[in-house]
Amino acid sequence: MSDIIQLLPDAVANQIAAGEVIQRPASVVKELVENALDAGATEITINIKDAGKTLIQITDNGCGMSPTDARMAFERHATSKISSANDLFAIRTMGFRGEALASIAAIADVELRTKMTEDEVGTLIHIIGSEVKTQEPAACNNGTTFLIKNLFFNVPARRKFLKANTTELKHIIWEIQRIALPNPEIKITLFHNNAPLYELPQTNHRKRIVDVFGKNLNNSLVLVEEETSIVKIKGFIGQPKYARKTMGEQFFFVNGRYMRHPYFHKAVMLSYEQLLPPNTFPSYFLFMEMAPADIDINVHPTKTEIKFENDRAIWQIIHAAIRESLGKHNVVPSIDFDQSGSIDIPVPQKTNENIVFPDIQINPEYNPFDEPKQGTSGGSYNKPTSAEKKNLENWEDLYRGTQLILKPETQSFTGQNSSENLYAHSMEQFSGKKILQLKQKYILTPVKSGLMVIDQKRAHERILFEKFLEVMKSDSVASQQQLFPQTIEMNPADSALLKSILNDLLSLGFDIREFGKDTFIINGTPGVLDVSSPELIVEKLLEEYKNSPVDARSKAKEQIAISLAKASALEYGTELKQAEIDQLIDDLFACATPNFSPDGKKVLTIFPIEDFEKSFSK
Ligand code: ADP
Ligand code: MG
Repeated sequence: MSDIIQLLPDAVANQIAAGEVIQRPASVVKELVENALDAGATEITINIKDAGKTLIQITDNGCGMSPTDARMAFERHATSKISSANDLFAIRTMGFRGEALASIAAIADVELRTKMTEDEVGTLIHIIGSEVKTQEPAACNNGTTFLIKNLFFNVPARRKFLKANTTELKHIIWEIQRIALPNPEIKITLFHNNAPLYELPQTNHRKRIVDVFGKNLNNSLVLVEEETSIVKIKGFIGQPKYARKTMGEQFFFVNGRYMRHPYFHKAVMLSYEQLLPPNTFPSYFLFMEMAPADIDINVHPTKTEIKFENDRAIWQIIHAAIRESLGKHNVVPSIDFDQSGSIDIPVPQKTNENIVFPDIQINPEYNPFDEPKQGTSGGSYNKPTSAEKKNLENWEDLYRGTQLILKPETQSFTGQNSSENLYAHSMEQFSGKKILQLKQKYILTPVKSGLMVIDQKRAHERILFEKFLEVMKSDSVASQQQLFPQTIEMNPADSALLKSILNDLLSLGFDIREFGKDTFIINGTPGVLDVSSPELIVEKLLEEYKNSPVDARSKAKEQIAISLAKASALEYGTELKQAEIDQLIDDLFACATPNFSPDGKKVLTIFPIEDFEKSFSK
């Protein structure tokens, strides 16, 4: 029998290996920009066409390559960065495997122009699918330019699986962010289809974070600094009150390299324990420096997972450093859970268990004989119009003595199963009864069958949502003009999102215009809202919208109304005056669907009197 084992030709081997290193255009951007950093560049320009599918061009002012090195660079395992196995334990550079260029050249059309400062002429190399087409002296600037065209031209399966341009571009932006944040001293410019997406000047760490993520972050950032014998940590964390609904802005870097580290992430999150509103995530940008020998960056081909020798100790150090920063900025000590005005941490409600009521807070100013005061201090809470009011007068008559069945909403986007949660209860008059606010989150009021508990934020979301629906249906849109129009600057991703929903926002009463690149001017806000800080509402609205289920977005208008309702509703922790509580209840029961929030969550629940009796039976 003849021998059947063969060595794969280099081109094929490279193509297979390429799959590991280069998964999408963003991987090319990452590898080439990292090479530019390693080459000592102080300026890097990235020029992308069609999310990198057509062109990726990267120019740096680094050290350049000699004609021989330029050719060698494309060989597998060709690297100038390590020469012995020992060097592996002292890596300070981004690359060291010598795989990237060989991989890219195997699956694309690559043109390299490079010149070292001391050389008169530079080198031009053109390679397509590992085949060298041209190598010749050429006039070049100092430094290096790579042009990558037709990525995956010979790997149709890979090309076919590339996602839409918006997705591929997002990955590219993420890679740039991960490189830009730890390297503020390097000027980085990113163009997409000739439009500038980032123009990041040379600056310091803090300013770079703000340049990347937008000015809104500036007030939120708190310095973290800690130096121990095993690790030096410097960076910034976001104050809890600025925490966002998405996890986007959380970054760890070690020795200038981005890393994912779920274990250290927990240390950060635990430091914020009890400081965050539910389902929100703080921003953090933590840069660690440590001896290269104490970490192993070799565990993952794309090198975002890193092993630490002393991970438990580092965990403790991170945790302590963040607690200390939060404490210094008065975030921690100001918390006092048992006093009114403190931050409230809502506890998830488990209705199946015996309910233990925490101490009830009684508004000391409450006087049942007071006339309800007009006007509210809740800021965003709005009274119904007089016409609505008329309809609502004596709304409780509706409930008096009769069995009321509140049906859950049947609209499909609520995602709620309508066979569940049918409430049947009868209500007595509220007037003259004490209605209490509990933990600045719940409103408690006795009803005939027991104790009704209303979630104040969800109730307000429902009220606002129904108002927005009405506004969208009507022809005349009321917009509240801002005395001082606000400009709002966004990161490219948010700016694109805002543009895509701008028309729907206009129909809700916003008056927002584009005002230069990624900047918008807010001239007016919906008349039904009492907005004190328009930029904040727009920002929260975008956050909510980003978080909404993707399939719900086909009903864009409704979804935007839901997002806006969530963004502008009363926050938990807002102390309500008696008149405001009454108004909220009035408005809630004037809604078509009072017992579910617009995204299908329970607004109210009734604890039956039998449960009380049961718990006192012994
Ligand atoms: P690695 O970065 O792991 O060494 P690469 O395949 O990415 O492997 O690059 C191979 C070599 O090519 C590098 O070690 C470096 O010597 C050279 N090189 C690549 N890009 C540049 C650049 N922009 N400027 C100067 N030299 C470069
Ligand atoms: Mg490299």
